[in-house]
Amino acid sequence: MRLGGVVDMSTIDWYGNVSLVVFFAGCNFRCPYCQNAGLIPLDSGETVGPEYLRKRLETEKNLLDSIVVSGGEPLLQPEGIRMACRLAREKGLKVMLNTNGSRPDVVEELLNEGLIDRVALDVKAPLTPEFYAPFLGGEAGNIPAMVKRTMEICREQGVELEARTTVAPGLSDEPGLIKAIAEDIRDLCDLYVLQQFDNMGEVLCPDLKSKTPPTKEKLIELAGVASEAGIKNVYIKTRISGLERIR
Ligand code: SF4
Repeated sequence: MRLGGVVDMSTIDWYGNVSLVVFFAGCNFRCPYCQNAGLIPLDSGETVGPEYLRKRLETEKNLLDSIVVSGGEPLLQPEGIRMACRLAREKGLKVMLNTNGSRPDVVEELLNEGLIDRVALDVKAPLTPEFYAPFLGGEAGNIPAMVKRTMEICREQGVELEARTTVAPGLSDEPGLIKAIAEDIRDLCDLYVLQQFDNMGEVLCPDLKSKTPPTKEKLIELAGVASEAGIKNVYIKTRISGLERIR
C-alpha cells in the first residue's frame, strides 16, 4: 500500500476512541480547501508492506480502540485498505473509514467482508455534477451519484454513517447551499457535521490559504439551517472547541 503517513494515537479523528490513523496516498478529487494537498498525486507517499503497520499497531496496542483509514482517498487502494483492516481485526480493533464516497463498489465489498464499523463521508456540495465540479477540478460526471450510492449502501447495511461538509469561505458557506445539501442527504445519514475550514498546513488553493476560516457563530447558523431542513443530529467541529452538538 502507498501511505502518506501514520498518526499513532489520535483522540479527535473518532470521538470517544483512541485511534491509529492511516493516511493513504493519492486522491481523485481536487478540493480547493484540501489540507493534505501533498497526498493528492497517486505516486505520493511511500510503499509499505503489512509489517510496517503491524509494528505500529503493536507499539500502541494496549491503548488503541480503533484505526481510522484516511487519506488522500483510501478507496483507491482496495487491497491496501483490506490489509490495514485485517491487521486491525487481528488486534481486536474497530475500523472507521474516511472517504469522499466516489467508490461505492469498494465500500460495499468491505462492508460485506465485515471490515468496517463506521463510515465518515465528505459531502462536498449538493449532489449534482454542477455543484461537485469545483471539487474535481473539472467535470464531475457521475461522482455525485456515486456519493449518494455510497450513502445508500451504508444505510442498507446498517453501518453508522457520518456525513461531513467542510465550510469554506466563498465555496461552501452559504445557507442556501447547506440547505440543499441537507435536503439531499437527510434520509441517508445518522448525523451531519459542519467542519470549519482550516487554513493551516498545505492548502491546495492559494487564494483560500489567505482567507479567514468561518466563525463558530457562522457554523452554528448553518447547523440551524441543516436541522430545519430535516437532519436529526447536527454537529459543528472547530479548531478551538472540537466537536459540539448543536441540534
Ligand atoms: S480534501 Fe478532497 S482532495 Fe483532499 S484528500 Fe480529501 S477528497 Fe481528496
